[in-house]
Amino acid sequence: MTDFELVKLALEAREMAYTPYSHHKVGAALLCKDGTVFKGCNVENAGYTPTNCAERTAVFKAVSEGYKEYEAIAVVGGMDNLKDLPLCAPCGVCRQVLNEFGDPDTFRIILAEVKNVDDLSNITQDDVKMTNKTLKEILPLGFGPKNLYIE
Ligand SMILES: [Zn+2]
Repeated sequence: MTDFELVKLALEAREMAYTPYSHHKVGAALLCKDGTVFKGCNVENAGYTPTNCAERTAVFKAVSEGYKEYEAIAVVGGMDNLKDLPLCAPCGVCRQVLNEFGDPDTFRIILAEVKNVDDLSNITQDDVKMTNKTLKEILPLGFGPKNLYIE
């Protein structure tokens, strides 16, 4: 699975986003250590607070299927009327959830700016600009499971 392939799966997931209020659609594709991929989209709610982000949807799907070891997650997002997506980084809550399961030093966060998302079937590598970060880079000094374990 290349990073580009993972981004394409995140773009597919974005198509499923339920965003009648914000119109900001996000897709994520979570790559597990064994190669399994879980896709997620954001799911909004009329009550606003119950809204769930794409990254957490992907993680919760994975955990509920028994997958807790991850290599990388690709994230794409932007307003639903855009032809070109800007970089869309995980929110603070999602960074915290990713920190529960991913090794901060090695878990890769792939953020993609994507052109021509109105024609996903013809997306090429030239349409995608990827920024790779580690979880530690986007959540420095994070609080995680290690804080609760006594060695
Ligand atoms: Zn989030």
